[in-house]
Amino acid sequence: MTPVLEIRDLSVDYGQGAGAVHAVSSVNLVLNRGEVLGLAGESGSGKSTLAYAMTRLLPPPGLITGGEVLHHGRDKEPVDVLGLTARQLRSFRWNDIAIVFQGAMNSLNPVSTVASQLDDIYRAHRPEMSRGQRSKRSAELLRLVGISADRLGAYPHQLSGGMRQRVMIAMALALDPEIIIMDEPTTALDVVMQRQILEQMMRLREELGFSVLFITHDISLLVEFSDRIAIMYAGRIVEQAASEDMYRSSAHPYSKGLLGSFPALHGPRRPLTGIPGSPPDMRTVPSGCPFHPRCPSAFDACEREIPVLEKLSGTNGDSSRSVACWLNTPSLSGHPGVGAT
Ligand code: SF4
Repeated sequence: MTPVLEIRDLSVDYGQGAGAVHAVSSVNLVLNRGEVLGLAGESGSGKSTLAYAMTRLLPPPGLITGGEVLHHGRDKEPVDVLGLTARQLRSFRWNDIAIVFQGAMNSLNPVSTVASQLDDIYRAHRPEMSRGQRSKRSAELLRLVGISADRLGAYPHQLSGGMRQRVMIAMALALDPEIIIMDEPTTALDVVMQRQILEQMMRLREELGFSVLFITHDISLLVEFSDRIAIMYAGRIVEQAASEDMYRSSAHPYSKGLLGSFPALHGPRRPLTGIPGSPPDMRTVPSGCPFHPRCPSAFDACEREIPVLEKLSGTNGDSSRSVACWLNTPSLSGHPGVGAT
């Protein structure tokens, strides 16, 4: 597996000084070429802030306080996205990375037709294309996402919610980027439409070979559509594993809670357990492990020290799983270790 995007020690604050809110703290994450990496967590866990920071779309008072975002382009030396000039950044976005946001109605221009919005992308980034080439390519893109080309003249309000979201996907694919970030792309849609769009997105991924960072609070979708899953809580990654491993035996109590909050995809029915309490107020994050007030397995050390993300070793040969939990440190917890079962 070769990386296409590598986030190293990335931290983001809202505000400055003593009152700064640490929304993302020292996150390390790798998106490999051609894979779907799922990022899950409750609202306010820092998922979207991370996506905005890595694409330099973070609005004030958001501030990147440290780290690197390395883009490993095709046949190019890695470049740090955080160091790009405004001109380089403009080219990086759309050409190398594109985002499908939640709520297409907020992202599409309500007074422009679909054709005109697709045309704008080509006029800005491919000025050498003729009008005819732009029209042909726009029609191809719509067909690619399952919309008839005769809807090119439609305004966003004349399309259904599912079609608008497909138009957003078409726009993201317009310049054939290597990376697509999907930030809760189907949350506003009904479950049938949600599934259709995600299945289509995965078919396009197979066909076109791009990588996907799929952000959602719905871990059951990630289990089905991602190759690997990273779980965020209070601005930190608390567990990373292959999707199947995460589903079969999540190691962090928060991951277990998230998985227990959604109905099982396969096998017998089981009661939904949920997670007690609420996500922390990021202005007053609990000491030590920020999950400790809600954790059914918390013990003394959890209140004192923040657990670091460490690879699990000796657990069914699984070396691709990382967990940030003191249960994984037997000397501290007196527990045999989360992976020892
Ligand atoms: Fe629970 Fe402690 Fe592990 Fe945090 S470190 S998840 S509080 S057991």
